[in-house]
Amino acid sequence: MSKAYIALGSNLNHPMKQIQAAFNALEEIAADNKIDHSPIYQSTAMGDSPQPDYLNAVASLNTNKEPLQLLDSLQAIENKQGRVRGAERWQSRSLDLDLLLFDNEIIDHPRLTVPHYGLGQRNFVIYPLADIAPDLILPDGTHIKELYKAASKTGIQQIEST
Ligand code: ATP
Ligand code: CA
Ligand code: CA
Repeated sequence: MSKAYIALGSNLNHPMKQIQAAFNALEEIAADNKIDHSPIYQSTAMGDSPQPDYLNAVASLNTNKEPLQLLDSLQAIENKQGRVRGAERWQSRSLDLDLLLFDNEIIDHPRLTVPHYGLGQRNFVIYPLADIAPDLILPDGTHIKELYKAASKTGIQQIEST
């Protein structure tokens, strides 16, 4: 059994409902039908074109799937929740599920880079990840507390503590 950390993001079609629905869907694909998840944060969108704020969270789950199988499951959940894939990067979306970490593995595959390349820079990932895994050490030896200290303190606020 492996442990995976997943970043959730939504800024379309009732983001709070999208995140809650995604928590439920992740429970269904977890090996033991349960997940841990962080509080929900509101963050300013990345990129140059104006977009609604995002809601973000991080969840962890146990899985018996291989990493690419898990990615397939995550993309199926995104599709089920109405994700439309356009040509442009970082467009508004009903749901984004990024595989942040898979045990201590380093994966370099055309469809899958783990740890996720944005993990170290994105406060909307680092904050909720630090909430549920305050003692986490990344495959390269970086402690989550170091990332937390270095993370930008602006453009993010916690909106729900469950
Ligand atoms: P970003 O990757 O910068 O957060 P994004 O989430 O908007 O941007 P997507 O359009 O959701 O990007 O994903 C593009 C592709 O990234 C996916 O088709 C997937 O194959 C690939 N990918 C690579 N590594 C990962 C990962 N760790 N988690 C999810 N997708 C990944
Ligand atoms: Ca993403
Ligand atoms: Ca993604």
